[in-house]
Amino acid sequence: MEATTSLLDAAAVGDLVMLDPLSEEALLRTLQERFSREEIYTYIGEVVISVNPYKPLPIYTPEKVEEYHNCNFFAVKPHIYAIADDAYCSLRDRDRDQCILITGESGAGKTEASKLVMSYVAAVSSKGEEVDKVKEQLLQSNPVLEAFGNAKTIRNDNSSRFGKYMDVEFDFKGDPLGGVITNYLLEKSRIVRHVKGERNFHIFYQLLAGGSAQLLQKLKLRPDCSYYGYLNREKSVLPGMDDAANFRAMQDAMAIIGFTPTEVTALLEVTAVVLKLGNVELSSCFQASGMEASSITEPRELQEISQLIGLDPSTLEQALCSRTVKVRDESVLTALSVSQGYYGRDALAKNIYSRLFDWLVNRINTSIKVKPGKQRKVMGVLDIYGFEIFQDNGFEQFIINYCNEKLQQIFILMTLKEEQEEYVREGIKWTPVEFFDNSIICDLIENSKVGILAMLDEECLRPGTVNEDTFITKLNQIFASHKRYESKETLNAKHVTDISLPLRCFRIHHYAGKVTYNVTGFIEKNNDLLFRDLSQAMWAARHTLLRSLFPEGDPQRPSLKLPPTTGSQFKASVATLMKNLYSKNPNYIRCIKPNDTKTAMLFTPDLVLAQVRYLGLMENVRVRRAGYAFRQLYQPFLKRYKMLSRRTWPHWTGSDREGTEVLLAELKFPSEELAYGHTKIFIRSPRTLFDLEKRRQQR
Ligand code: ADP
Ligand code: MG
Repeated sequence: MEATTSLLDAAAVGDLVMLDPLSEEALLRTLQERFSREEIYTYIGEVVISVNPYKPLPIYTPEKVEEYHNCNFFAVKPHIYAIADDAYCSLRDRDRDQCILITGESGAGKTEASKLVMSYVAAVSSKGEEVDKVKEQLLQSNPVLEAFGNAKTIRNDNSSRFGKYMDVEFDFKGDPLGGVITNYLLEKSRIVRHVKGERNFHIFYQLLAGGSAQLLQKLKLRPDCSYYGYLNREKSVLPGMDDAANFRAMQDAMAIIGFTPTEVTALLEVTAVVLKLGNVELSSCFQASGMEASSITEPRELQEISQLIGLDPSTLEQALCSRTVKVRDESVLTALSVSQGYYGRDALAKNIYSRLFDWLVNRINTSIKVKPGKQRKVMGVLDIYGFEIFQDNGFEQFIINYCNEKLQQIFILMTLKEEQEEYVREGIKWTPVEFFDNSIICDLIENSKVGILAMLDEECLRPGTVNEDTFITKLNQIFASHKRYESKETLNAKHVTDISLPLRCFRIHHYAGKVTYNVTGFIEKNNDLLFRDLSQAMWAARHTLLRSLFPEGDPQRPSLKLPPTTGSQFKASVATLMKNLYSKNPNYIRCIKPNDTKTAMLFTPDLVLAQVRYLGLMENVRVRRAGYAFRQLYQPFLKRYKMLSRRTWPHWTGSDREGTEVLLAELKFPSEELAYGHTKIFIRSPRTLFDLEKRRQQR
């Protein structure tokens, strides 16, 4: 029981449940103190907190894997391997499906953590030709998804711009059989726009830097980033990132997963088309009627795209410069203005790319999926964006924070559920715990009748020119007295002025804090419309992969009802995710980014404190020790403390449980401090444990 040796040294406590007294400040100090000793992992019970060191640490070696494999959780220092091992062994030996939830803000180390878990499981499960192949395929899905789904941002040079959940499936012996990946909300706006200092998705730079002359010629690309509008016409080389080498690694990974050369070519062709769309320039011209119209200034790019996708250039041009409008029962071709034309072009590029990404995930799944009928156990790994509070928060932050609100809800429910189940298992009386229930906030957002998302959908469905003003006016009426909602109007009505809350904004009191959202862009982003002419043009292309991405472009297909909105799709996928997680045994990894400059071993207390709040860590500790802060099997407990009693030391011959009872009775702890479960001793407050430790040291 190493953990308790350091317990007396409060600053170094490896399990925050043992903090006494518990305060935000003490929690922060502990993390900092440990971090300064390169102890980046700390527990809250069985939750791991991980603080990004921003430098390689020698703690992921095969020897470390050995050390943590089959170890006693409490006998070794906190480590991500310990939780991975606990989850894996419990899955293998106790037949309990597991999920590993990794949260934290961008750059906090989530994706690295998920890879560490996966590689640990790969290392400790058995070897063999068949199993090794499966493991390799699962691990190699990373470079492929990262090429297409990651980008350099200000916060992280390799930032995942999508949420990912991966179910890894095992047979009864604990050998991996395969898996299923689900992706959430790719940040597709990045395709057409990114700020200075960031980049578009890695794949474009990889392709241009690493593609052979022959390949680039085939794709009609130039090996020059500064030629492409969607790459901001900038050369972009990142220190420490070898795009060309990563391109080769990505291609190797595809081969391992089982992509055929034809599939790889098709994938890259569509990728090239997206890049080239950004160079399709429009300029305005006037029709005979005097109405503004647009035309394509540089026909070469258009022609090349047309060749790549097997479509008549004039069809593509027409789809980019005009749209069909139904007037009564007649279809009329109307010219688009230049800005409408660019809007359509960008919408097309975003749609192609995000659908291509979905295709990619599906294609990987086809390779790694497990044949039906096999008995299996599952370990799910969730790597998803954490809570976001920026200066300006829009639709994306709203959606992401909704997801985090749901994760917090399930976290509380599952922690409580687990505590409760353990008490029942151990035959100990359960007393209800007070905790902050955030379902009121979840409901505010997701209620199917009067939730913010439902009301946004309603606005999006309204014919005619829609705008966000009517949307926010409605919100203000309906939530006028909601405890967790406010806006300038609702505050005015209560005679409160708050200059930090401008018009066209609403504020939600999330569990992690207040966030002000600006509704500008909500409707457009929720609708995510693509002019029908464009989807029809894509469907008309001969390129098999590309056309398969636009099934709605089939003119034979009866005009479907409107496609689901972004918000409603996300809500549905979050609901599925929650159901999935709830059916499993949860393991948490909470990642913290200690500084904003990616500096090695720098700890900025203010930044960390904010994350401690977003992650709800205080609540976590509180819930965790609401009943009994400490519990341990009788055998190791007695072994450690039997020296404190003359009756149990040195030779106790009775059962471990009786020995523990004799020992603790002699030490005269108040009875409400202790509970005797079937297999474990439960101790209510950390103080009692400290007391035991002190006595032990004084011996
Ligand atoms: P997130 O997925 O949370 O945005 P990443 O997992 O991509 O963050 O981590 C960002 C960067 O931080 C990584 O590229 C790596 O340089 C560094 N990093 C993260 N975790 C660790 C770790 N355990 N040890 C060393 N460096 C790390
Ligand atoms: Mg990531």
